[in-house]
Amino acid sequence: MNLQKPILNYVNNTWHESVAADLLDVTNPATGEILTQVPLSPGDEVHQAATAAASALDEWRRTPPVERVQYLFKLKNLLEENIDDIAQTITMECGKTLAEAKGEMRRAIENVEVACGIPTLMQGTNLEDIATGIDEFMIRQPVGVCAVIAPFNFPGMITFWFLPYAIACGNTYIVKPSEKVPLTMQKIFQLLEQTGLPQGVVNLVNGGQKTVDAILEHPEIRAISFVGSTATAKAIYAKAAANGKRVQCQGGAKNPLIVLPDADPQFTANATADSAFGCAGQRCLAASLAFAVGGARNWFPKAISDIATDRVVGNGLEEDVQMGPVITDESRKRIEGIIQTGIDAGARVLVDGRYPNISGYENGNFIRPTVLSNIDPQGEIAKTEIFGPVLGLIHVETIDDAISLINSGSYGNMACLFTSSGASARKFRYEAQIGNIGINIGVAAPMAFFPFSGWKDSFFGDLHGQSWDAVDFFTQKKVVVERWN
Ligand code: NAD
Repeated sequence: MNLQKPILNYVNNTWHESVAADLLDVTNPATGEILTQVPLSPGDEVHQAATAAASALDEWRRTPPVERVQYLFKLKNLLEENIDDIAQTITMECGKTLAEAKGEMRRAIENVEVACGIPTLMQGTNLEDIATGIDEFMIRQPVGVCAVIAPFNFPGMITFWFLPYAIACGNTYIVKPSEKVPLTMQKIFQLLEQTGLPQGVVNLVNGGQKTVDAILEHPEIRAISFVGSTATAKAIYAKAAANGKRVQCQGGAKNPLIVLPDADPQFTANATADSAFGCAGQRCLAASLAFAVGGARNWFPKAISDIATDRVVGNGLEEDVQMGPVITDESRKRIEGIIQTGIDAGARVLVDGRYPNISGYENGNFIRPTVLSNIDPQGEIAKTEIFGPVLGLIHVETIDDAISLINSGSYGNMACLFTSSGASARKFRYEAQIGNIGINIGVAAPMAFFPFSGWKDSFFGDLHGQSWDAVDFFTQKKVVVERWN
């Protein structure tokens, strides 16, 4: 496979080798092989991208929306044609299975499709005769240069929660991918280049913390979208706001499921396993806690443990593999440590996925699905975002007990309920203090035409990614009051 070496920045429609002295290895998490090195671009290179994006702004915003979306139609076709190649790159640098990588790119494409509707979505409002002979209009105009700072776990999709809407609304854009997975954006920017977008409309700057700091400080950059851990989200939210920028920050998660005794056992166990162990648990919508209510404790722990034991773990490029490795060796050790802390605190191990023998992949960052029961609701397993294939089980007597424990948590990304009772479903939907709710769904991922609605420590800001929220985020409203005598 043809992988980009070295990793380049893309500024003003030209590929540049960074002058960065600091380079980080990019490693295939399944094999330990070093794929390439990523430059930690200095602030000067952010400045070049911001200057290019600012210079492109006037002509781009004057390009009619119907013409701007023609580039997105082209991009959609290019993404469809290259989905297999991009998916392979995602699997190689991020570790998830090919099917998961392709699924991620489908979600990316859906956002391009929705943003193609900008000529409708971006319309303002008006009212004739607010007073006799006077009319009033609300017009949406682009914000300016905008940027995204992305996490490692969806190297392709997450940028698409923002970029298609931003440019369709007439903004120009800078992407800063995670330094752990820079290869996917190299491929995607090659496709953006093929769309013929004018110079400076989309730019790519690779790097780490210093690169992000330069983005947060640059006076030309007006709006910032961040997705990553809660600690970084909070820090970026504060700094971007202090610098007067529009900002939306999606943070970490600790997603609970509730299993009621009237749920369909096999369906529930399968959906839970896909949620907890899909993408090796490295999804911000991964289930990591399950509350078995009342009699559900009689069947749920065994059903989920059987599936966990049977999962085929290995290199995501291989066809029958159901779960890949976690992103780094450091991450694997951190997850093993958290499991041990839970055991030391009294958790019972139903399935221990630590230290597996994955033949041929001795240098991979593998950890098999793990299920722990008797979790202390106030302990580390119940409170910490593990971001690995670990499910903690807690037994409670009523749905009220489960909802109250869920609402006492600090995160609010997703919670799901499995039941055959409409009344229980409504109660849960109504009372759970969580932004994305699943009823008989294990991964309640909003489609591109709905906002990705994390709450509490899972989100800082008011406008979310995707759909109408993205249009609001990437436009500023102008009101015109008009009289012609
Ligand atoms: P991370 O916070 O370590 O990194 C995210 C981005 O921030 C990267 O581009 C990184 O270069 C940059 N960064 C990291 N530390 C920084 C610092 N101190 N200052 C400035 N920039 C910094 O997150 P990650 O490990 O790449 O991703 C996993 C996390 O992302 C998990 O917590 C997961 O829940 C979360 N996530 C959330 C969502 C969501 O929609 N809420 C979606 C995907 C991932």
